[in-house]
Amino acid sequence: MAEENSSPEGENPTETTPPTRRSRRSETPAARRTAAVAQRKSAVAERKAAVAARKAAATAPVRTTPKAPSRVTKPLRSMVILSMVGGLVATAAIPAFAAMPQSEEAITQHQIAADNAQSLLVASDASASQIQRESYSATTQEEIDEKKAKEAAEAAAVARAEAAAAAAAAAASSSSSSVPMNISLTSPGTGEVRWPLLTFTKGRGLGDSGYHQGVDLLADGGTPIYAAAAGVVRVSSESHYGYGVAVTIDHVVGGQQVNTVYGHMTYGSRQVQAGQYVEAGQLIGLVGSTGRSTANHLHFEVHINGSVVDPWAWLQVNAG
Ligand SMILES: [Zn+2]
Repeated sequence: MAEENSSPEGENPTETTPPTRRSRRSETPAARRTAAVAQRKSAVAERKAAVAARKAAATAPVRTTPKAPSRVTKPLRSMVILSMVGGLVATAAIPAFAAMPQSEEAITQHQIAADNAQSLLVASDASASQIQRESYSATTQEEIDEKKAKEAAEAAAVARAEAAAAAAAAAASSSSSSVPMNISLTSPGTGEVRWPLLTFTKGRGLGDSGYHQGVDLLADGGTPIYAAAAGVVRVSSESHYGYGVAVTIDHVVGGQQVNTVYGHMTYGSRQVQAGQYVEAGQLIGLVGSTGRSTANHLHFEVHINGSVVDPWAWLQVNAG
């Protein structure tokens, strides 16, 4: 049967297989058959050797003689053993040699790291940057502290402002304390009549240099102007005759009808409207040079019962 003729592995070399060079050289069918048998034997031997090598690899260090069948010839057996030894050498020695360069390489890297100061510096730089990054959070902490300090300062300022407001309210309680006051918009005076400017240089007075119905208080542009007394705004205009940007306020002071005039204010600086009630010392505008004016100053007038009075004298007597 075909199974008997074939090799145990199931190979079945037939005539259809392409002829080898050797078979080409040998012409006779007998020689051909001999060559085929030899080829089959060599194939069998190779397969046995592969099996033996596999077994040897499985039981690596143990030297086991392959259970070679008697059919394998002695040269083939020695070849199998040689290949086995070669395989053992390959599996045992090559990894050893492969491991050697690795360990040498590691040692070399360690030596480089130990010998080369620059590589160590690089490492320290990297750690320094990490520390700096941690110090950023510390900076944030400082910012928080700064914020807290600022909040504390603001709280203290608010407390001072509240104390000042309480004092001002206590002082103003005699006239009227119903309207809430904003201390930042009010002159720090305590009297019923206040100075319209806190800092100024006295210029022309009443009647100086011809027709002049008021007093000129020289100050920088933008200096706050405060209401001389509590009252109701009569005029608040961006263009009030020669006064330019001006405000006039009606008061009752000491039982008298008093009207005060504030001229030459900065454009757009008016803080009050006609008909509005204002507290004594309330901010009403800023010093400017609008209207018939050649320099920054406040032109201030006082009319009592419809008559012009000397505003400078009136302020000196009443303001405080
Ligand atoms: Zn004037």
